[in-house]
Amino acid sequence: MSIDWETQANEKYADASQYAQKVLDLINKSNDAITDEDASWITQETVDCFRDFVNPGFLDYRKTVTKDKQFAAVEWSDEGESFKDVNGKKYIDCLGGFGIYNVGHRNPKVVQAVENQMHRQALHSQDLLDPLRAFLAKLLAQITPGDLQYSFFTNSGTESVECGLKLAKLYSDRSTILAATKAFHGKSLGSLTATAKGVFRKPFMPLVSGFRHVAYGDIEMMEKTMEACHLVGEDVAAVLLEPIQGEGGVIVPPDDYLPKVRALCDKYGALLILDEVQTGMGRTGKMFCCEHYGVAPDIICLAKALGGGIVPAGAVVASEKVFKNFFPNPFIHTTTFGGNPLACAAAIATINVLIDEHLPERAAEMGAYMLQGLRDAAKGHEDKVMEIRGKGLMIGIEFQEDQIGYDFSKKLFDKGVLVAGTLVNAKTIRIEPPLTIKKEDIDKVIATVAEALK
Ligand SMILES: *Cc1c(COP(=O)(O)O)cnc(C)c1O
Repeated sequence: MSIDWETQANEKYADASQYAQKVLDLINKSNDAITDEDASWITQETVDCFRDFVNPGFLDYRKTVTKDKQFAAVEWSDEGESFKDVNGKKYIDCLGGFGIYNVGHRNPKVVQAVENQMHRQALHSQDLLDPLRAFLAKLLAQITPGDLQYSFFTNSGTESVECGLKLAKLYSDRSTILAATKAFHGKSLGSLTATAKGVFRKPFMPLVSGFRHVAYGDIEMMEKTMEACHLVGEDVAAVLLEPIQGEGGVIVPPDDYLPKVRALCDKYGALLILDEVQTGMGRTGKMFCCEHYGVAPDIICLAKALGGGIVPAGAVVASEKVFKNFFPNPFIHTTTFGGNPLACAAAIATINVLIDEHLPERAAEMGAYMLQGLRDAAKGHEDKVMEIRGKGLMIGIEFQEDQIGYDFSKKLFDKGVLVAGTLVNAKTIRIEPPLTIKKEDIDKVIATVAEALK
């Protein structure tokens, strides 16, 4: 029997087109026009498609899905410091997309810049000189510490780290990279090598050679390792660190750690790469976290909040002595979309908003207020809460057990506050709201936390 391939293909495409049109109609509807029927279709269809076409694993881990997977909170819109699910329930965002919403959700200035740029030119020709890339690079040189000057643009954190590692390798004939335990630098093969978590790394061995991990915050171990590397002829090319570890559970190192690391790098001729993908753009109460410690790296990696929560954007900024190895052949490291006009417009507006609205200062002030409030709320619950720590609006609550953290974040979610914490990883819950969060909202969150702990 012959199969009529053409008819089959036509039917397939007709179905696909109809389905795409149905979704486009929903996208193009205003929020008020979404009916209850739309909302329940969106919810059920999302769950079904996650199960059949995305990854059913997510349905087991997300606190937003009920045990029988019949109900799930499906996000639909966002604004300011909160977002709404498709049924119109509002959530205060204390997760901040793990640090992408520093200037708030859909900050009007960022939206306007991106919109205007989109209507002018969205992506670049790849051949002419694109002006926004140039302007953003100058801005980054102005606001980053020390003599950081030249920028390479990326689309994500992991790409920024990859570029930082390549710059370090080009700088000298050395290839040893020191990273830290509990580090997170991304999941592409190079950055994954620096990332410290065994479950993410082990299945993908062998990774990039030349990496070693030392205990984070332990300057003596760092020194001994650098010395040993020198003695055996495998001198350290670069030390790669987060100034505060994010994924590791908001781990703040001793105050003298980064300055001492900087001094060790100088002593042994190694570069210092700081991964400020999460800590940068005002999150910890300074524009860049390393400024708390008076330390300037040779290479800084940025992403997450750089695009203002509107467009994915990343950057690597390096000093001239490091970056100049990219000069002779600028094609030695490239990316098609990195530094595109939409991303640059978003980043330029984001920097403008951060400075004009004093958001780093605000993060310091509101962060201190929130940290104290949370600590007060946790008093008497030492059986559940081990420690609350942080800097600026990067706060971690460490629980005695994973399960307590998961129950806690689920309870908060039911009460309209989103914090990190999934079934797999909830021992330390991160609180990283937009830096624009209002004091009333912080008070509401603290009250909800107090209630949930009871
Ligand atoms: C999130 C993160 C990354 C990875 O960024 P992606 O955009 O997810 O690739 C790298 N480093 C740090 C410190 C991060 O927090």
